[in-house]
Amino acid sequence: MKYLIANWKAYITSHKDAKALFKATQASAEASMSEVIICPPFPFIPDVKQNWDMALGVQDVFWEEKGAYTGEVTLEMLKNLNVEYVILGHSERRNYLGETDEVVNKKVKAALKAGFKVILCVGEKERKEENVIPTIVAEQIRADLDGVPKTKIPNILVAYEPIWAIGTGLSDTPENAHQAALYIRKTIGDMYHTKLGVGIKVLYGGSVNSKNVLDFVNYHGIDGVLVGSASAKKDEFTKMIKMVG
Ligand code: PEP
Repeated sequence: MKYLIANWKAYITSHKDAKALFKATQASAEASMSEVIICPPFPFIPDVKQNWDMALGVQDVFWEEKGAYTGEVTLEMLKNLNVEYVILGHSERRNYLGETDEVVNKKVKAALKAGFKVILCVGEKERKEENVIPTIVAEQIRADLDGVPKTKIPNILVAYEPIWAIGTGLSDTPENAHQAALYIRKTIGDMYHTKLGVGIKVLYGGSVNSKNVLDFVNYHGIDGVLVGSASAKKDEFTKMIKMVG
């Protein structure tokens, strides 16, 4: 079974558009064997609740339970909203909002402790040479998972997202993504246990669309894709779901 994760980012800005996109996505997802997970902006979660019976995620969360934290959304607030997944460590949050690995680590631990599944994003800034996976990927994983108990590792999906490929139309090659997946599994295997490394789900993200989605999902060792801009386009994303099957 492959994962197709939709990160709507802030592309959708009205309830009307959110509802239409949920509806179309659900219809395709119901007919597919893939795990389709939609991660809308927070205000649209109640729109989904009425219409959506599949997996739902959010694009960020705060690590404390409650208190004087102006503007934050806590895990506790999400508990009765059918939210199962949380995207953490996305490069847009790391770059535009200054999220450090220390912050990502706090969020990862809090989300797992509260029973959520984590989609952890890692990736390098500059385009690399063929088959060379930058060590920053292992450094991020080590820092972001610091102190995470081994029992929680099966609740993590790692999204390998080279930053230079996000939103640029320049996707990485499936072979490079495969090499990155091996490297990620080895890093987690070294940190915990080979079995946990082998078992972890690794996704590719970065300019995935209907033209290249099959190249990635059909490649050995890639468990699915995290899709940004293409997931906010109704026809494009439903086409992708149908293609993956
Ligand atoms: C992302 O933001 O996770 C992403 C992969 O974006 P895009 O598909 O737009 O490159």
